[in-house]
Amino acid sequence: MKFQIAIDGPVASGKTAVGRGVSKALKWNFLDTGIMYRAATRSILDSGISFEENSSIIETVKKTTLDIDNSPGFEKILINGKDKTSTLKTPEIDRAVSIISKIPEVRKELVRQQRGIASQGPIVMVGRDIGSVVLPEAELRIYLEANVEIRAQRRYQEQIASKGKLSLNDVKVDLEKRDLIDTQRQDSPLSKYDFYTIIDTTTMNLEDVVDEITSIYRSQI
Ligand code: C5P
Repeated sequence: MKFQIAIDGPVASGKTAVGRGVSKALKWNFLDTGIMYRAATRSILDSGISFEENSSIIETVKKTTLDIDNSPGFEKILINGKDKTSTLKTPEIDRAVSIISKIPEVRKELVRQQRGIASQGPIVMVGRDIGSVVLPEAELRIYLEANVEIRAQRRYQEQIASKGKLSLNDVKVDLEKRDLIDTQRQDSPLSKYDFYTIIDTTTMNLEDVVDEITSIYRSQI
C-alpha cells in the first residue's frame, strides 16, 4: 500500500479545498503542488529574470529552497527562508505561472521535491500531473472538473474576498488561458486519462466531494 491519493484538474475545480478536506478526514499529509510552481514563479519574478532566459530560470528554481507546511491545515510556504505565502495568489503570478511550469527542467526539479515529500508518509497531493507523473502508483487517482462558468465564479468570489479588482470576465479569460497552456504543453499536460476517477463538482458542495472521495478510497482498500 502506498497510502496516496492523487487529485488533478483544471483551474478552480476545487482541488485544494477538496484535497485538504480529504487529508483532514484521513489524517494524512497534504500537498498543494500548485503552490510550488507559484513559489518558483515568485522567485523568478523577484530576481528580474526574463521569461526568455530558460537557463537562468532553471538555475534559479534549482537554487531556491522551498519549505512547505504539509499538514492538513497547510497555510505556509517559505521561499529561501522567507514567508511569501500571501504573495502567491495574485493576478501577476496567475498570468506567469503556466509559462514557467511548461519548462521540463523546472518540472523535473519540483517533481523530485514532491516525491521526497510523499516519501514522508500517507499523502493527498493535488495538481495537474500527480496521477500521471508524480504518484502514478497512488491507490486513487481523481480528476475533478466543473463547468467553466462556475469555476470562474468561484475564483471571482475568492479574488473579491482578497480585495482584487478583476471583473468576472477578466477572471474567466485568465482561467481559460491558463487551462489552455496547462493542457497543451509538451511535458506532463493536464489530461483526462482513462485511469482517473472523474468527479464533476459543478453542482456539488465541498463536503459532498470530500465524502465521495473518502468513501471511494475506503471501499477500494
Ligand atoms: O493549482 P494552481 O492553480 O495553484 O496551479 C498553478 C499553476 O501551476 C497551474 O496553472 C500550472 O501551470 C502549474 N502546475 C503544474 N503542475 C502541477 C501543479 C500546478 O504545472 N502539478
